[in-house]
Amino acid sequence: MNCRNCGTEIKEFFSLGQMPPINSFLKEDDMAREKKYNLSVGFCPKCYLVQLINTIPPEDLFRDYIYFSSNSKYFLDHCKEVANNLTKKLNLNKNSLVLEIASNDGAQLQYFKELEIPTLGVDPAENIAKVANERGIKTLAEFFNLDFAKNLKEEQNIQADLIFGANVLAHVPEIVDFVKGVKVALKPKGTAVFEFPYLKGLMENKFDIIYHEHVFYYSIIALIGLFKNAGLEIYDVELTPMQGGSLMIFASNPGVFKIKENVNKLSAEEFENGFDKLETYQKITMSVLKIKNDLIAILKKIKSEGKKIAAYSAPAKGNILLNYFGINKNYLDFVVDKSKAKQNLYTPGTHMLVNPLEKIYEEKPDYLLILCWNISEEVINMEELKQYRNNGGKFIIPIPEIKII
Ligand SMILES: [Zn+2]
Repeated sequence: MNCRNCGTEIKEFFSLGQMPPINSFLKEDDMAREKKYNLSVGFCPKCYLVQLINTIPPEDLFRDYIYFSSNSKYFLDHCKEVANNLTKKLNLNKNSLVLEIASNDGAQLQYFKELEIPTLGVDPAENIAKVANERGIKTLAEFFNLDFAKNLKEEQNIQADLIFGANVLAHVPEIVDFVKGVKVALKPKGTAVFEFPYLKGLMENKFDIIYHEHVFYYSIIALIGLFKNAGLEIYDVELTPMQGGSLMIFASNPGVFKIKENVNKLSAEEFENGFDKLETYQKITMSVLKIKNDLIAILKKIKSEGKKIAAYSAPAKGNILLNYFGINKNYLDFVVDKSKAKQNLYTPGTHMLVNPLEKIYEEKPDYLLILCWNISEEVINMEELKQYRNNGGKFIIPIPEIKII
């Protein structure tokens, strides 16, 4: 496999084996037909880009996507803060345009709209774009790429003051074409802002950011080169708590903004920590296997005491963990998730029925394994789980290190 940015042969360093598409929840009849695909990650020794060895065609992944942004309060709070901060930082006003790529159901754009800033969303998932349009957030049901951007600029005379994308940068296999599109769709003095899980997480046992949708795992040293090739310059970078540790980068046409010290500092830190060396990545497997063995031992012990364990929520990352660790009905009594879109369907790969939260009060488990560990604090303090806590219910947080609360 050759690097999707520079064409150099990439070196595999971590494999999760055969995995189902991790956001495809199943009806009972679909389980026997479920497909699995290789899921391994490699490193490009020339441009440092960490990427999947194989991908599933995007059409198979995104056309009927089940994830609705507006389900998580934590996420919505973050969206509101992002809208406020970016509006201030970039001096956006009612004459500006915010273009969001992979805008989902409009969760982020609604907060720009509240600030009276014109918005336009692009999202390939037709069912989700429809929901956004019904909510009054104009959304085009298309893939964003260079052709799309050219059409926007040349045919419709549309360019954006802010192009925003949360997670999307990690999702697009044709990344060079995509970033070139960003340049075209951006006004000469506009800024493109992208937020995505930070590669550093892989070194901290957060291997569950690896799934087929995430083609890339970015370091700043790889991104600087990637954006430079498309004629863009990264001038600022921030660390955010999203997905258990994300980066937010700010890019513009070269020379428009002064490059902030943050960018140089983070690059220097990455070189110091060996983000430019294959050996650094080769250590990940051993470290993740240790967590696997420890967690399985804990679950076995709890089961041997005759106690019940349920999984709290079934996010993509949680399904990766369940599949890679081999945690199924043998360990878990049941799974609950707040998302109605997932309820009464079966989890990918492990084929466990997803129940509404009420099941916790019917079955009275002793432990909840929190699979959305990145928001474990929110989960533990949830009003709906107050009675569970008061009855002595415990929580297991699996990652980045196992904790029982
Ligand atoms: Zn490369």
